[in-house]
Amino acid sequence: MYIYSMRAFEQNDTVFRMLSEAISEGIVVVNEKQDIVATNKRADRLFRYEVGELEGKPLATIIPPKYHGVHREHVKGFYRHNEQKRMAEGRSLYGLRKTGEQFPLEVGLNPFTLPEGNYVLALVYDMTELRDKDSQIMELNAHLEEKIQLRTQELSNTVAELQKEIKRRKKAEALIKTALQREKELNELKTKFLSLVSHEFKTPLSGIMTSATLVGKYKTGEQQEKREKHLQTIFGEVKRLNSILNDFLSIERLDQGKEIYRKTHFSLSKVINEVVYNTNMILKSGQSINLPQNIDEVTLYQDEKILKLSLSNLLYNAAKYSPEDSEIDLEVELDESQIIFSVRDNGIGIPEKDQKHIFDRYFRAENVLLTQGTGIGLNIVRGHLNNLGGSIDFESELNVGSTFTITLPIKE
Ligand code: ADP
Repeated sequence: MYIYSMRAFEQNDTVFRMLSEAISEGIVVVNEKQDIVATNKRADRLFRYEVGELEGKPLATIIPPKYHGVHREHVKGFYRHNEQKRMAEGRSLYGLRKTGEQFPLEVGLNPFTLPEGNYVLALVYDMTELRDKDSQIMELNAHLEEKIQLRTQELSNTVAELQKEIKRRKKAEALIKTALQREKELNELKTKFLSLVSHEFKTPLSGIMTSATLVGKYKTGEQQEKREKHLQTIFGEVKRLNSILNDFLSIERLDQGKEIYRKTHFSLSKVINEVVYNTNMILKSGQSINLPQNIDEVTLYQDEKILKLSLSNLLYNAAKYSPEDSEIDLEVELDESQIIFSVRDNGIGIPEKDQKHIFDRYFRAENVLLTQGTGIGLNIVRGHLNNLGGSIDFESELNVGSTFTITLPIKE
């Protein structure tokens, strides 16, 4: 590296060369007139001049025109204070290349005095790379921010998705739980149903068995009466089994909406006599049914089979859930649009807490668990009556008695 020309410098050429070589920045030495008196190679290269070409040229040669004024003032002040200073700290300073191109730089100014006068040695740092790096960093930062924003957005989207998924799963879980619970209840119901059916069938079957065995033992003609009594029991029990099976079949038809109703004109007294006759067969000793008085000559238009089934159910229950020597009242109220039947007993009644479940399928109140029954009858009756536009209701008091009421439309 060389520093050229200027007599004062020539004398110290070696020293300056050494100094110049030790420094990797560009060096520009300027005299008081602001002429360049020496440069090093690095400075020449920075400003794109041939080696030594800048020497003797005014400093303004390497400063873009728009900074000339500012710069002059600056340098004057600088000589006055004679201090070391770094220019362009915190603001942009530019150098002018021979090519006319400008480039960012930073300058460290070091004044010194030789016998010939005052000089300033300017150390020139090329900031292009740094600025490039700065802007690269800024760009990267901006990019990074964008990326962070994007990722944050993505993340919050994912979180939202996850929350949605969690909600969905919770819902599904709840559904599965309900389904499981239902399945469990259904299973319990099935088990209950099976044990109930077995139980219900066992008693009539063992009755039939006993009677049949006994019938076989009465061989002589005089024993005909006893034979008939046992045959009667067999018929009764078979009838009971048949009615239970009918109830089950009825449930299926009702559930599947397959029940076909047939409305006809029929005599009310005929139906009541038939139902009461059948109930009489199962009455306990001393029980009696008080018949309605106002039904002669009444003709109804309804489904006769369903009416029979409903009344039988109520009368059977009244007898079943009442003690011996008690009375059952069957009453009828009639106007031109509907008929109301009520069956009143003085029996065991229904516990209040069980009353709301009485029409539920298979439900039996806690005070009847030692009495035979399936808990199906009332449920079926209600189903049929609803389908026919009618209804069923009751009032009951524990250990006092119950009144069940059926309403049916009778208009054609
Ligand atoms: P079950 O075969 O048990 O008699 P139902 O469906 O006919 O079935 O009746 C359901 C329940 O309603 C009975 O188990 C019983 O608890 C109650 N119940 C029905 N009728 C009467 C009544 N007249 N007195 C007391 N409880 C009754």
